[in-house]
Amino acid sequence: PTTIVDELGIALANLADAATGTFTPTLRLGVTGLSRAGKTIFITALIHNLLTGGRLPGFSPMADGRFIGAQLAEYPDATIPRFAYEQHLAALTGQTPTWPESTRRISQLRLVLKYQSANWLAGWRGPATLNLDIVDYPGEWLLDLPLLSLSFAEWSREALERANRTASSREATPFLEILASIDPQKPGTDTDAEKLAASFTRYLRQSREDNAMSTLPPGRFLLPGDLEGSPALTFAPLPPATQPVRSTSLYAMLEGRYEAYKAQVVRPFFKDHFARLDRQVVLVDTLRALNSGPAAVADLETALTAVLSCFRQGDSNSLTRLVSRRIDRILFAATKADHVHHTSHDRLEAILNRLVANASRRARFAGAETRSLALAGIRATREGSLLEAGEVLPTIVGTPMPGEVLDGTSYDGNTEIALFPGDLPEHPDSLFEDSTPVSLNFLRFVPPQKLDRNAGGDMVLPHIRFDRALDFLIGDKLA
Ligand code: GDP
Repeated sequence: PTTIVDELGIALANLADAATGTFTPTLRLGVTGLSRAGKTIFITALIHNLLTGGRLPGFSPMADGRFIGAQLAEYPDATIPRFAYEQHLAALTGQTPTWPESTRRISQLRLVLKYQSANWLAGWRGPATLNLDIVDYPGEWLLDLPLLSLSFAEWSREALERANRTASSREATPFLEILASIDPQKPGTDTDAEKLAASFTRYLRQSREDNAMSTLPPGRFLLPGDLEGSPALTFAPLPPATQPVRSTSLYAMLEGRYEAYKAQVVRPFFKDHFARLDRQVVLVDTLRALNSGPAAVADLETALTAVLSCFRQGDSNSLTRLVSRRIDRILFAATKADHVHHTSHDRLEAILNRLVANASRRARFAGAETRSLALAGIRATREGSLLEAGEVLPTIVGTPMPGEVLDGTSYDGNTEIALFPGDLPEHPDSLFEDSTPVSLNFLRFVPPQKLDRNAGGDMVLPHIRFDRALDFLIGDKLA
């Protein structure tokens, strides 16, 4: 049992925290994007570049010589997993560098940045500090916001309508068959609930794999984080009840779990984490979608629209008011820009702009400044050129990951190749209007195998336009 003295101690500690909080400003930066968009790489590069004073000519505090340094600090909330920076960096900089494990759940990390203010009055008092709290979370979780305003019956209707559409028939059939074999009015059992939830989850995950990007809620079914196997994730949509629902029925059981998912998983995530962000970067693997064809581009656009509706501001919808008061800057970044030649980067940015412009028509980012940028957190290729039929083609040079296949050749992970990745369309609209697929050569490359060291002996991670991203996200806060 806690004593009055314990409680007083906690209250005093909280007060002390609150007091220090007022002296050191804190910027909470959210990093999100759908699975494999590049969150882990982006954050690892961000931390490493700040800790080691990386090569960032476009990051104004560094270019002006006012950036003094950064340090890792204890994160104030001990209940949230820490971003595994050291582990990820070790994978990237080991004997044989490999890509680290991707984001599976929310994690956070605090950096303390020290800088000399450009403002003479502020600068006169000596160096200033800023706490940079980085919050990494799966973009899939943002798909759940609309659920908060849907009852179990409403959500079920939508979800089953989608599952019955012909486009999803291949993935959805096993689930729909199991659903047809179970009477929702019979007494609820865990066995039935688990059977339904498992086949529903398989269907959701498969439509994402097969169609490259189709991304359907509930988000935790795609990426459960720490909730794998817990009852809150053991539900599935059911057809409308035709008779009064008995409280012991399977229907009532799954309805209860759906409501628990909303109350205990979705709402706390938005309230405790999302709503507290000051700035946000949304990473998008645009090239993979382009490479998979027009259907994947359309799917990506739909998924982004759903994800971005969470940032909608200034309308009367109480849900979005709950979550999006503070964010004042959003960066959209097309990741893995090292897969195309730099002459294509402007086009890549234009395509990303077009993808999010459509989303923003419905979701106005009023009050938040937005920007689109093509970047690579860690650059795995060099540039070259190739003479073909009298024409000079801009190429990229890199080592394809083991198992990657191009034109019938399967690579072993040790062979460097020069590749003409193809041309991105000049007018992004053509991606949506006609169905001529862009022919791109998109291969995954191994991470850089030999890294330079800076004067201080630290490894330097090569990047593309990462400094510009950083400047937009935090540069003004270090002014
Ligand atoms: P997330 O954490 O799921 O969003 O994704 P990751 O950051 O783990 O990235 C997924 C994969 O994309 C990585 O394993 C890399 O293969 C690739 N990747 C991410 N960022 C880059 C980049 O800047 N350049 C290249 N070439 N590949 C990248």
